[in-house]
Amino acid sequence: MRALIAIALAGCAYEDTRPVAHAEEITASVSYTIHGDTACAPNVRADTETSCRDWGTVSRGHIAFRVVWDLTASTLLQYSEAPLIVCRQMPYPYCGSTSGTVVEIGTNPRCNTHATALHELGHLAGIHDIDAPDAVMNVNSITTRLTAADVRACAAIGLCPRPGRPDVTTVTVEIDPAIPRVEPDYPRTP
Ligand SMILES: [Zn+2]
Repeated sequence: MRALIAIALAGCAYEDTRPVAHAEEITASVSYTIHGDTACAPNVRADTETSCRDWGTVSRGHIAFRVVWDLTASTLLQYSEAPLIVCRQMPYPYCGSTSGTVVEIGTNPRCNTHATALHELGHLAGIHDIDAPDAVMNVNSITTRLTAADVRACAAIGLCPRPGRPDVTTVTVEIDPAIPRVEPDYPRTP
């Protein structure tokens, strides 16, 4: 199209003034209200909500996950098309899985539920497993902090900015006040 215009307007001062896309530009976003299983324990709920905010922070709000803890056997049919977080027993070492928009968190006490929630929510955003050994998105991750490798995997699908410097190994995750906070409906222990 540009070539045609250039030929048609040869001799005229045609300039494309559209902004140049930069590599670090975020080109996509994913926003889900996730229905969470009321059977999930308070610590799992807290870890899941923290993980939602962590992905929201590194993606500058382009991954916006909000969990509503209202999924029960009686609401399952009603929400079956929506993203879901389900807590269930799995034989160790299985701690979590994501199939489509259904995230399962294992309840085995040997599992690190924060690491599991971060990893599975990464899949829910569309990020695949990566090889970097310390990354959250490594298949065997027990990491509760998103690393530069995770952010690069997120950037590869346009949801995160690329880490600015190649020597950055860890991204500090701050809670972004712009991400809506879902108030828990259970008492928090101090
Ligand atoms: Zn995985």
